[in-house]
Amino acid sequence: MSAGGIPEDVLRDDNLIKGLEELAKDTAVMHGVVMRTKDSPNCPEVVSYAPFTLFPSPLPKTLFHQALEAQTHFNRLIDRISQSPHFLEEALSSTIKVDDFTARLFNIYRQVQQEPQHPVPIVLGLNRSDYMLDQSLDGTMSLKQIEINTIAASFGGLTSRTPDIHRHILKVANRLEERQRILDNNPAAGLAKGLSKAWELYGSERAVVMFLVEDEQRNIYDHRYVENELWLRDIPVIRRQFEDVCRTGSLDQNKRLFVGGQEVAVVYYRNGYMPQNYKSEQSWEARLLMERSCAVKCPDISTHLAGTKKVQQELARPGVLERFFPDEPETTARLRATFTGLYTLDMGEEGERTVDMALAAPDRYVLKPQREGGGNNIYGQEICSVLGSMRDSMERTAYILMDKVQPRPASNYLLRPGAPLRLSLCLSELGMFGAYVRCVQKGREMVMNECVGHLLRTKSSEHADGGVAAGVAVLDNPLLI
Ligand code: ADP
Ligand code: MG
Ligand code: MG
Repeated sequence: MSAGGIPEDVLRDDNLIKGLEELAKDTAVMHGVVMRTKDSPNCPEVVSYAPFTLFPSPLPKTLFHQALEAQTHFNRLIDRISQSPHFLEEALSSTIKVDDFTARLFNIYRQVQQEPQHPVPIVLGLNRSDYMLDQSLDGTMSLKQIEINTIAASFGGLTSRTPDIHRHILKVANRLEERQRILDNNPAAGLAKGLSKAWELYGSERAVVMFLVEDEQRNIYDHRYVENELWLRDIPVIRRQFEDVCRTGSLDQNKRLFVGGQEVAVVYYRNGYMPQNYKSEQSWEARLLMERSCAVKCPDISTHLAGTKKVQQELARPGVLERFFPDEPETTARLRATFTGLYTLDMGEEGERTVDMALAAPDRYVLKPQREGGGNNIYGQEICSVLGSMRDSMERTAYILMDKVQPRPASNYLLRPGAPLRLSLCLSELGMFGAYVRCVQKGREMVMNECVGHLLRTKSSEHADGGVAAGVAVLDNPLLI
C-alpha cells in the first residue's frame, strides 16, 4: 500500500467521526494534553483538553528530515549571532529607532555588554525553528522557514503526549497502517536535558532553576512537563513572576542571583517576549537584574535579540550567513535552502523597492512587526493601507516584508472546546526544537547541541495568522508520507 494521508472516505464517514469525537477528547484529557480555561487561567480546578486535530496531518518524510538535520546548524547560527555585537548593532540599528520594545531590549543588551566583568560563563539556548511547506506551481513542495523563536518557545511539553492520542484514535478507527507512521516525540525531555546540563555546569546543588512565568497561567501544564523532568533529576524548580523578582531579587558581590533567598542557577523565561509582559518599569528593572547576574539565562538578552524578525531578514542578505560560517559552504547552503524571500523596509532605495513590490501584489507577502505570540502580522489589502500610510516615514523600519508561503491544504477536523466539529481545509506548520549548551571555559564549541523533538500545529486555511495560544492553530502530529 502506498503511504499517504488519511483517505477522504474515512474523513467523510460521519458515523465514524461522530463516534471518535468524544473518544478523542477523553483520550487527550487522559494523556494530560490539557490547558486551563481562558476564563480561569489560574484555577487548577477548571481544565479542558488542549485544542488538537482529530487525525495526524500528512508531511513528506524528506522535508521532515531536512528540518531535523538543519536544527543543530540553526542552533550554532543563533549562538554565533548572539556573540556578534557588531552584527546585532548593525542589523537592529534602524529598528530600535522606531520600535520601542526592541529598543528597550537592546538597551539592556548594551548595559550588560558594558558590565565590568561581563559574566556569561554558561550559555543555554532552547529554541524552535518553524516551517511551512511551500507548494510551487508544478506541485513540488519545499521547506520554508517562518521564523526562529529563541524565547519562550512553547508546546514542547504538551506535544510530548500527543502521539499516543493519535495512535489510540487510529487504532479505534482501524487505521493500523497509518498508526505505525506516527513518530515518537519527547521535546519535554530534551528541553529538560538542556536545562539540567546548564544547572550542572553552574555547579551549586542548592541553586534552583527558576521558570519566569506570566500571571495568567493557562498553559501551565506545558511548563509542568519540563518542570517534572527536572524534579525527576532532583533539580529544584521554582516558578516566579517579574513582580517576585522585583520584590525579592538581588545580586551578591559575585553577581549570583538570589530570589526570595534562593540562589538561582538558571532563569528559564516563559515570559518577557512581548511588551504587555512588562507591566511596569519594575519588570524592566527585574529583567536587567537577571541579565546582569551570573545565573544562566535561557535565553540571554543577546540570544533573545538574535531571534527578532529583523535579524532573520538581515541573515537572508547575500553573504551574511557566510560571515557566520566562513569555512562551511555546506552549512550555509543547507540553511539558506530553507529561507524564503525576506525584504528590508529600511529608509533608502532598497526599502522603497520593497514598498512598491508589496503595494503591487500584497497577497504575495506578509508584513511583520518585531512581535511574538501570534496575531501581529499584516496580510493582503491591509498591507496596502498600513504600508501606504507610512511609505515615507521611519515607522516602516519597524517591519520586515516576507514572501507568503503557500502550503497545500489538507482536510482534517479541528477539536477545540466549544466549537462544533466540521471538516476543514487545513494548513500545518512544523517546528523543530533545538537545545544547546556552551561553556565558555571549555572553549568555543558546545557541550550539547541537539534537535530534541518537533511540533506540528494546524489551522484552518481561512486564517492567515497562526498560534495555538492565540486561539487559531491546534496541536497535531505529522503522518510521514
Ligand atoms: P509569531 O512570532 O507571532 O509566531 P510568525 O512569524 O510565526 O510570528 O507568524 C505568525 C503566523 O503567521 C505563523 O504561525 C503563520 O501561520 C503565519 N505566517 C507567518 N509568516 C508567514 C509566511 N511567510 N507565509 C505564510 N504564513 C506566514
Ligand atoms: Mg515567534
Ligand atoms: Mg510563530
